Amino acid sequence: MKLTIGHLYPDLLNLYGDRGNICCLRKRLEWRGIKVQVKAVCSGERVDFTGMDIVLLGGGSDREQALACRYLKKEEKNFRDYVEDAGVVLAVCGGYQLLGKYYKTERDRIEGLNILDIYTEWEPGRLTGDIILDSPLCLNPVVGFENHGGRTFAEKYQPLGRVICGHGNRENCGWEGVLYKNVMGTYLHGPLLPKNPELCDFLLERALARKYRGTIKLPELSDEPEYRANHYMVQRLTSKYF
Ligand code: GLN
Repeated sequence: MKLTIGHLYPDLLNLYGDRGNICCLRKRLEWRGIKVQVKAVCSGERVDFTGMDIVLLGGGSDREQALACRYLKKEEKNFRDYVEDAGVVLAVCGGYQLLGKYYKTERDRIEGLNILDIYTEWEPGRLTGDIILDSPLCLNPVVGFENHGGRTFAEKYQPLGRVICGHGNRENCGWEGVLYKNVMGTYLHGPLLPKNPELCDFLLERALARKYRGTIKLPELSDEPEYRANHYMVQRLTSKYF
């Protein structure tokens, strides 16, 4: 078995270690003896979604997001077809916002890719800090870090999780991220996947099931250091908040 991962515009969208998500996807495949190819698509290059099994879009500043969106607009239809055909996508923060209808920044409006029926509007005061979620995809709490000025309205979809501490899509809305088909949109940097191996395996199993047509259960890995780090953060943050 083999998966191909497309890392879109790493030269523009790569905040707070988003690249670590690629390392995590790669390593967890290799540890199970599954081949993996990572294709980085840099600014100005066209994206060929036909050969991709997982697509990663990271976060960026408003300026870099606007540039990335200009390139992605040329791929809008192919990207939408990929998503509707159950292609796996992890879109973090700026990348998550770009999947929606628009992102109204402090000064401009960036037209999104219309892949998700969500929209984002900037408000003063950034939503920054460590965040914990309770997600139906994981037995353990999901741990991450958020830093965004945009507030996302995503009520039409199942969220990635309920916010236990932190902000999520908007302050006081109680929900974080979006799950649609095999798209995971989220504000969680960190990077997300090494901090939450269950989410990584969820994406890998979905990609393998799509490509090899069937239910795939990956063999367990020990993940002991990962869960020690996860539990440490949960302890630290919940004792601060409650
Ligand atoms: N520029 C966007 C915002 O501030 C996204 C930031 C990010 O990707 N961390 O909301």
